[in-house]
Amino acid sequence: RAKKRMHSITADSAKSFLRRNAFVLFTIAAVLLGMELVGKKGMYFSFPGELLMRMLQMLVLPLIVSSLITGMASLDGRASGKMGMRAVVYYMVTTIIAVFIGILMVIIIHPGKGSKDKLHREGRIEQVQTTDAFMDLVRNMFPPNLVEACFKQYSTRVFTRTVLHSSNVTAGVTSTQIPAPENFTEVIPIPGSANGVNALGLVVFSMCFGLVIGSMKQKGRALREFFNCLNEAIMRLVAIIIWYAPVGIMFLIAGKILEMDDLAVMGGQLGMYTLTVIVGLLIHALCILPLLYFIVTHRNPWVFIAGLLQALITALGTSSSSATLPITFRCLEENNGVDRRITRFVLPVGATINMDGTALYEALAAIFIAQVNNYELDFGQIITISITATAASIGAAGIPQAGLVTMVIVLTSVGLPTEDITLIIAVDWFLDRLRTTTNVLGDSLGAGIVEHLSRHELDAQDCELGNCEPGKE
Ligand code: ASP
Repeated sequence: RAKKRMHSITADSAKSFLRRNAFVLFTIAAVLLGMELVGKKGMYFSFPGELLMRMLQMLVLPLIVSSLITGMASLDGRASGKMGMRAVVYYMVTTIIAVFIGILMVIIIHPGKGSKDKLHREGRIEQVQTTDAFMDLVRNMFPPNLVEACFKQYSTRVFTRTVLHSSNVTAGVTSTQIPAPENFTEVIPIPGSANGVNALGLVVFSMCFGLVIGSMKQKGRALREFFNCLNEAIMRLVAIIIWYAPVGIMFLIAGKILEMDDLAVMGGQLGMYTLTVIVGLLIHALCILPLLYFIVTHRNPWVFIAGLLQALITALGTSSSSATLPITFRCLEENNGVDRRITRFVLPVGATINMDGTALYEALAAIFIAQVNNYELDFGQIITISITATAASIGAAGIPQAGLVTMVIVLTSVGLPTEDITLIIAVDWFLDRLRTTTNVLGDSLGAGIVEHLSRHELDAQDCELGNCEPGKE
């Protein structure tokens, strides 16, 4: 009998070990399987990850539209004005801090030092495109055709003029040739567009539409209920996809690791550049943003961040803050209990215009390119870089490597050679994941901060609706 008991105890502990470590074991098995499939078959390996990306992207458009409309319609004009103001101030302050950290890091670490060839670029590049870029950004806010805005990009002179196909590495960054990815040769997305969607235009329209149907009282009820229902249904779909997310993310990351064969280029200046970006992003994501959250809310930022883990890992896996949006919603509402009236408004807007990681990276990368060209930037040019990096991050879509493309605005504003973007393409897939994670963290902490600051208005509205908690109002 003792033997039988021993046997059942061993079987039980093996079962519980398996249960507890299923995720880790699954990852190891996936990576081993991946080893078998490297090479040409590697593309099959990333297939489950690609499916996750597609599922998430499928939900982004209805999610942005329905959440913004219901979010704006559920608040009265004054409350949404105040909340919007707070969100915009938060976005601006954190983006400016991020740009400042990026500039500080690249000046202190100076990853571009040691370039042999002195290249004088003055006059080589036209410097007239910044105004065009700003005007295009504003144009994108007002799509002339709403249906078209859901699938078609508005093309701009600045972005069609730049063709990033040079594969020759100049300026002594590294002796290894860095080939530009094929998809960067012709098709260049434009600011405010995500996978052909003019996200910025849809955000502006949805906000205005939501405000209007919110103010229509009884007449707007049917529309409010329709969008509420749509939002609810999309969130239920998100709940289903979340079950599949860990598998998809694991395949996305493992697939990329197995594909990796350009680690050799990580030496020298490019390695230092990568390190500088990582240090800058870590300072912003792990010191500045949590500190800001703590100062404003007096709550523990790490508890809040722990609730976001799933969204942060999704951002790391997908390199897209738009695709991560459905998961960010779930994490904030379910894990951190952030009020839906806040998430519905702050998250879609944040995912479209608030990109701290991208802003930090754009300023840093532009100065790095100046350094490798031995191009001395004066104070005025550094200020120009800060302003254009902020604008470029607002304009960048929440899709993989969008920041690399909008960097054209930053480079042309100070006359730096746009073709030198090829110098940093080799490491961009990796840095993109880190800056996307920073972007998602910035949006999420922003939602927590705006909720805290808007507590008064939210409570007042609850009371008006008869849901007053004792002791409030
Ligand atoms: N991939 C980033 C995002 O989705 C944008 C970027 O390229 O910086 O947030």
